[in-house]
Amino acid sequence: MIIDAHCDALYKMWEHPELSFQYSPELGVNYEKWKKNHVKVQCFAIYVPEYVHEDSTFQVALEMVDLFYERILKPNPDIKWIQTQQDILNLKENEKGAMLTLEGCHPIGEDLVKLKSLIRLGVRAVGLTWNQANAVSDGIGEERGAGLSSFGKQVVELLNEHNIWTDVSHLSYQGFWDVMALAKYPMASHSNVYALCPHPRNLDDKQLNALIERKAFIGVTFVSGFLHESKEATPSHVLQHIQYILQLGGEDSLGFGSDFDGTTMIVDGLEDYEDYDTFISMLQAYYPQNLINKMTHENFIRTFPHRSPGIL
Ligand SMILES: [Zn+2]
Repeated sequence: MIIDAHCDALYKMWEHPELSFQYSPELGVNYEKWKKNHVKVQCFAIYVPEYVHEDSTFQVALEMVDLFYERILKPNPDIKWIQTQQDILNLKENEKGAMLTLEGCHPIGEDLVKLKSLIRLGVRAVGLTWNQANAVSDGIGEERGAGLSSFGKQVVELLNEHNIWTDVSHLSYQGFWDVMALAKYPMASHSNVYALCPHPRNLDDKQLNALIERKAFIGVTFVSGFLHESKEATPSHVLQHIQYILQLGGEDSLGFGSDFDGTTMIVDGLEDYEDYDTFISMLQAYYPQNLINKMTHENFIRTFPHRSPGIL
């Protein structure tokens, strides 16, 4: 069983409405490929691209929620909607699970009602920023490097109250530490090791240790530019990042957030859903099955904030 904490298939389908979730080969994550691999649960990010005018960002986020319902869940009764940890545990052998996440809070502007609405629509992990600054915090691409605003602190408090993950991937360095001080449920959905590849999107040892200390989820990502400075990478580079996090003591944190459909920086040999199983088999040559189980799904399930279905 594999759980993948991040893909951008919704964004790709939104940009290219002609693509079919059922079979379009252009989608790294599609139904046909999914049925053939061991990915059990896929997180689908709502990512509103930076070129969308700020007046329309919430509308676009809703359009992606609509794609999630109409194009992924509705035509495929064997894909179940994941809203709680229990929903994952309830999946039957032939079933898959799909969960909504948010990549960047720019679509909510400065409006907590919009955030609550997205949570009510099923969002279970909230990335505070993409690379730019927004009302919540600076992203890692903003030179100023500011951390959480007062509004940003309200956002994290709301996520705490609603038992929702706060995702630090893409966040500024200061924002990361502000989240670690405030969030009950921090996680990094798709980030790698800075010491191995000094890209600002990666996490340095201090950050990794802080997440590991709390046994928080860290999703290693298959983006070549975050794996090796040359921007060329193979599955063995992914292995190096895994190994590094393990050496820091991260066996209860490790997981995967592929970023399929969200990047053009492809790993040679780990390009889309069709390569996932081969990659996991490769890990079997290096690690015992109980450790692989932690990485592929147990850490995600264990860290999924407990949320009774009745919470509104
Ligand atoms: Zn991303």
